Amino acid sequence: MIKKTTTLLTLCGIFLSLTSLYPMPPSQKPLLRTIIIDPGHGGFDPGCHGLFSKEKDVTLGISLKLGKALQKAFPELKIVYTRTTDIMPGNKTSIQDGIRYRAELANKQHGDLFICIHCNSDGHPPGHYPVQRLTGYKTTGRGKKKKKVPVYVTYWVKNTRTGTESYIWKADRSAPKGDAINQRNGENMGDSDNSAFDMAGPEAMMRGQLYEKKYFANSALFGTLVEREFAGAGRHSGGVMQRQVGIGVLQATGMPSVLIETGFLTNKEEELYLNSKRGQNQVVSNILTAFRRYKQTIEKNRNTSRKG
Ligand SMILES: [Zn+2]
Repeated sequence: MIKKTTTLLTLCGIFLSLTSLYPMPPSQKPLLRTIIIDPGHGGFDPGCHGLFSKEKDVTLGISLKLGKALQKAFPELKIVYTRTTDIMPGNKTSIQDGIRYRAELANKQHGDLFICIHCNSDGHPPGHYPVQRLTGYKTTGRGKKKKKVPVYVTYWVKNTRTGTESYIWKADRSAPKGDAINQRNGENMGDSDNSAFDMAGPEAMMRGQLYEKKYFANSALFGTLVEREFAGAGRHSGGVMQRQVGIGVLQATGMPSVLIETGFLTNKEEELYLNSKRGQNQVVSNILTAFRRYKQTIEKNRNTSRKG
């Protein structure tokens, strides 16, 4: 009996020292559960346009295909769209209200990644556009009415700008992001006790800043992986950028978020590509591969940080 107790105590001792050496992970909750897909524009807001198509339709087509592909590859994921038809999300009547609705929906659904799909315009008309060039001056009129007038020739320029760009929010304009993160901090950030959480306290601020840093790093990671896939598929990738003026929807979502410009509708060939089944499937497959790499990377990072 004594022997048995001693063995039991020894076993308990070994178990306790082992658990203190290798503490059990608090939870192995999946890092990615809900993905928010946001097709740019919609309804009264067509976005930019090409020779024959509007941005709001192309972004919806790509977004629905992306959601389907993500769901098929990762059945455990919850996919939430900000819109699935040609409306301003939430049936809002202004672009600003639409942006607010998108961000609120993403936060309410506890999104773990926000993917915003857009198409680009270079600011010139699509296809070809006329440009005037000064070739010289000619004299008109007689006597006092005599004057020199400039002579222009008009020629057509092909709209050649092509390629993809991914945007993440600008770091020094991240105050609304901090608010959104703090809001989510109070709701559910995987903690067991939120009831005694002081939202205005220094602890909340510090945690908010930590999450903000992590979200920024993860947004940059996902954006980089997306652009790498685009480049690998032979597209011209403009890389990951931060806009000088912040992007409302990215700043107001309390989660890693990336806005993907999938190509220029103002370029004739790229417009055809973005409207084609082949083009849309390729864009979707590139984002899906990037998502797979992103998931693997953040899961690996969690495991190494736990071990270390
Ligand atoms: Zn757009």
